[in-house]
Amino acid sequence: MNTRAQSTEQRSSTSLQTLMAGFILFIILAVVVLNGWVVFNSYQRTLEATEKQADNLSLSLSRHAEDTFLQVELLLQDLNERIDQDGFGGPQLLRLQQTLKNRKSTLPQLHGIFIYDSAGHWLVTTADNIPKNANNSDREYFKYHQNTPSTELYIGSVIRSRTNDDLIIPVSMRLNNDDGSFAGVLLATISLNYFKLYYGYYSMGDTDVLAILLSDGHILYGRPFDDSQINRDVSSSPLFMEHLKSSTSGTATFYSTVDHVERIYGYTRLKRYPIVIAAGYNKTQVFSNWKVDSTIYTAIALTLLLIMSSMGAIVLKQIKINEKNQTDLTKVRDQLTAMNHTLETLALLDVLTGLANRRQFDIFLRETIAQSALSGKRIALIMLDVDMFKKYNDHYGHVEGDKCLQTVSHALSSMPRRKEDLIARYGGEEFVIILMDVTEEGAIAFAERALEAIRHQSIPHELTSLDEKVVTASAGVYLFVGTTPAQAPESVIIRADKALYQAKNNGRNRVEIATE
Ligand code: GH3
Ligand code: MG
Ligand code: MG
Repeated sequence: MNTRAQSTEQRSSTSLQTLMAGFILFIILAVVVLNGWVVFNSYQRTLEATEKQADNLSLSLSRHAEDTFLQVELLLQDLNERIDQDGFGGPQLLRLQQTLKNRKSTLPQLHGIFIYDSAGHWLVTTADNIPKNANNSDREYFKYHQNTPSTELYIGSVIRSRTNDDLIIPVSMRLNNDDGSFAGVLLATISLNYFKLYYGYYSMGDTDVLAILLSDGHILYGRPFDDSQINRDVSSSPLFMEHLKSSTSGTATFYSTVDHVERIYGYTRLKRYPIVIAAGYNKTQVFSNWKVDSTIYTAIALTLLLIMSSMGAIVLKQIKINEKNQTDLTKVRDQLTAMNHTLETLALLDVLTGLANRRQFDIFLRETIAQSALSGKRIALIMLDVDMFKKYNDHYGHVEGDKCLQTVSHALSSMPRRKEDLIARYGGEEFVIILMDVTEEGAIAFAERALEAIRHQSIPHELTSLDEKVVTASAGVYLFVGTTPAQAPESVIIRADKALYQAKNNGRNRVEIATE
């Protein structure tokens, strides 16, 4: 195979390797991207679902809180109006107490209802017994109303009840005299247990959070934290510092200021009251299932990649081996072709002289006769024989005889001639020359020049019968045109041989032409 075909084969094999490597790379990338996408997508979905859940929960709890406080507000407003109309002098107190008790029984969130005079003394209460010397003027809500003319509802931080030590949220309103001066405080307390109980209905993880806070950042109640966290100020948390400033409700993920756990929160600030509700899911817990799934999925994908890469590597190796085999085969084929060519050449050449051998001469003569038959052009066949060569051999030995034959051959092959002519060694010390498209004169002249070329070598020949003691040769020429059917090659050889015999008979070192 020639080098161009070889390089084309190599190129196609290399491009197959590149294609295969590209394909494997593509599959690996596809698996990595797909795996990444699935894992990321499931992360996003988990996050979105949790955010939605937290958001819904905070909205639902905010509705509940709003209702809880609204009921209390309406109650206080009603009582306020009643006091406005009737006052709370001696006779009214008993009636008021009855009303308070009736109302309390209708609202489960209520811990108690209280009316204080301007000095903080208990006037009326739902509690069965008023503690001795009870005075609430030290309470934060009392001081607030004392100093604030507004009769709006006020929700204070969690405190401990003085009647039964329960944790309560004070919800209060200022009572005014007719002239607008401070007359006392109307207080309803909401039991913290009410929220504890309600928030306890929700089934959540141990570290998930439900919290009700004041807008200034104080915790009213937060599950799962214990009572020590109540009233804790978390206004420095991201919820108050950042998220509530930009939106009254939404979702956010941040680390808790209380226990430093990262949670996904839904938060809502009540429209009517300075209350914030937050519902938060522990992020680590939320993503624990996702982590397990992702790890399994990634492990499967990695195993798959490993298998594919190994298979790809095997295929690539195989391609390389095939390519090497191909190259080796090509080399062997090229070597064989070259050897064949050499063998063919050797088979057509004479080993001693390097001239065309008898085999080539036979083929060539047959072809030339056929061509001549078609073209009608004349062929000259010249038989040439070294004179008295037996004696030369006898005298100089066979080695010298061989050298002499080589010199004679060289003289003949060096003669200027057309490329369609042939000079061959017929056998022994006999040579043949085939000339195409020649005249009789031309053929004789060529034969004469051949004899002259041999003589011109001046190879000494002591035993020749000729005067000049050098190697000479004789030649017989036969001219003919190919016929259809073609004449047998032997028949033309015999004619030329006869002419040669004539030349020998006529004294050698000469040319004779066959006369038909
Ligand atoms: P003539 O002039 O009639 O041709 O006489 P001649 O001696 O040349 O003819 P003959 O046919 O009697 O002898 C040919 C000799 O050529 C015989 C043989 O020893 C010698 N010969 C033939 N082939 C070779 C060869 O390849 N090498 C050598 N050294 N001698 C060869
Ligand atoms: Mg002879
Ligand atoms: Mg001879």
